[in-house]
Amino acid sequence: MKQYLLPENGQFYKANMHMHTTVSDGSWTPEETKARYKEQGYSIVAFTDHEIMVPHDDLADEDFLPILSYEFAVNKWTKETNFSFWPCYHLNFYAKDPKQTKMPVFVEQRIPEKSKHFITDDMRENQSTDFRYALDYINGLVKKANDMGFLVSYNHPYWSLQNYEDYAGLEGVWGVEFMNTGCYVEGYHLDCDMRPIEDMLRAGKHVYPLATDDAHRLSHCFGGHIMVKAEKLDYPTVMGALERGDFYASAGPQIKELTIEDGILHVVASPCARISVSTERRFTRFQNVGDDGKLLTEATFDMNPYLDVCRTVENLPWEPYFRVTLLDEKGLNAFSRAYFVSELK
Ligand SMILES: [Zn+2]
Ligand SMILES: [Zn+2]
Repeated sequence: MKQYLLPENGQFYKANMHMHTTVSDGSWTPEETKARYKEQGYSIVAFTDHEIMVPHDDLADEDFLPILSYEFAVNKWTKETNFSFWPCYHLNFYAKDPKQTKMPVFVEQRIPEKSKHFITDDMRENQSTDFRYALDYINGLVKKANDMGFLVSYNHPYWSLQNYEDYAGLEGVWGVEFMNTGCYVEGYHLDCDMRPIEDMLRAGKHVYPLATDDAHRLSHCFGGHIMVKAEKLDYPTVMGALERGDFYASAGPQIKELTIEDGILHVVASPCARISVSTERRFTRFQNVGDDGKLLTEATFDMNPYLDVCRTVENLPWEPYFRVTLLDEKGLNAFSRAYFVSELK
């Protein structure tokens, strides 16, 4: 039976899951943000202003969905130390309920004067100043957010000066940024790197790859994005699709269809120079553009040799998964999420 790894029905909606506006330190108002992203073909923007979750449901229309969210920082530096030396955790919290008024954590002192009028009593309910730069503290915070109905992303590990020991033990995280356009264009090149995600997948974490803009200004915009496949553009439908992983991440090329039938993986894509599949172990498959120079728009991979090992070898060191990568002529990538073999029918 053919299994659709990206849903058979619905349509793709382009989304930027990380955005700063004049509510915090971005240069565009929420209204300008909507107008400019719509112009570029986006249907979804998560308004992840720093430290405060401001609803923008007034911006919703039949072609545009704002996602209620914010970005929160847990810093290792103190007032006495230079922030450029010290690591931090940056997490985005995305509310599954568009009417959510409470934030998992809030620090009133961090809100700039211009935005204090957005503060509500519900926000103050989880006011805290008791932070620790420690994995167990972060995991507690993520759990609290999950229990309150938030999806949590772990952002830009390279800009944050973080290493394996900072992220491999994260629990309950939904998405991990492997591409952050803002960090990348400002010279943090490794914020375009799948390595942290691979590390987390091999540590048994079912995390999804996120490509985002983290835009504060124009030079950060319209790079990394995700394409969400959903039946319609409404809040619960889109959040459900995000939670299930019905999306892929890209800086350019498009995955149009992704299916598997009798162990044969089939990829339909926008024109690409290479389509490949990688796994948790030393097994890959790839198709490159041929001598005729004609770009690929589909590829078929026999995954049965890989799947046979999954089914017959006991005590595999890592939970088996595979994921698809596209490379276009400009050198831009798209990545599917990891599909765990346990998900296959
Ligand atoms: Zn950040
Ligand atoms: Zn940010």
